[in-house]
Amino acid sequence: MPPKEKQLAKTTQAAVVAYGDWSEDQMNKESKEMSSGGDFWKVPVGRTTVRFLPPKIGWPSPFVIQHQHFINMPGVEKAIIFACPKMHESKKCLACEKADKLETSGNSRDAKAAKNLRPSKRVMANVVIDPKNPENSVSIWAFGKRVYDALKAIRTDDENGGNFLDPIGGFNIGVLRVGTGKDDTAYTLTPGREQSKLVNMDWIEIQRDLRQLLRIPTVDQQNRLFDGEDPKDVWGDKEEVGAPATPKRGKKDVIDVDVDDGQRTAEDDLFDDEVDLD
Ligand SMILES: [Zn+2]
Repeated sequence: MPPKEKQLAKTTQAAVVAYGDWSEDQMNKESKEMSSGGDFWKVPVGRTTVRFLPPKIGWPSPFVIQHQHFINMPGVEKAIIFACPKMHESKKCLACEKADKLETSGNSRDAKAAKNLRPSKRVMANVVIDPKNPENSVSIWAFGKRVYDALKAIRTDDENGGNFLDPIGGFNIGVLRVGTGKDDTAYTLTPGREQSKLVNMDWIEIQRDLRQLLRIPTVDQQNRLFDGEDPKDVWGDKEEVGAPATPKRGKKDVIDVDVDDGQRTAEDDLFDDEVDLD
């Protein structure tokens, strides 16, 4: 904990005298992060060493599970991506409603379209890539069920694994990726052979609260996304102020969906099963 926060923690009952600032620099940095969706790690082919960071105090887990809709629509160039309002907040989700409706029709094309409309789970975690270098910063890794299960297996293996998250007695994890395509990509996770202390304890403090990266749209925002409006406008990202707006498609009251799997990656497809955080 940096000194400022320590001081803050001690003065909860008395007047709070120490607090941080929200500078213009920081604001600009945050705006950039908002528009890029954070610093997500693209796993390279080959072997990489990563270190998972322990959750900050008050966080229930080092992981955040996202129920993510990833929908390809005819006439819309990029997939429509958002966190499911129904799964995350028990609120109205047009994609889930449409999937429910399609599923009742009983024909196989509709069943497939319904499946493509369903949210799939992705786990997000704060990691340091190449953690031997204290200068390196914290990245976010969004991964699928197989990686998540591999981490669970390491965590519960008393013999060759253990609590890899411990900043003192934990250890690095080797990530071996083979393949780049939807069908041939595979990851193998290996626990580091030795316990190692984090070389930069500040990493714990500077990691992102991943819950804040969940983009859960209102019904209005969902309609705008499905109408083909530029996601940056829908989410209020300021990056391209003054850029010409994407021409809007005619308003539709049904959600049309490509049956073809489109740009879904191998990782997306690893997510069809339940992910259990216990
Ligand atoms: Zn949904």
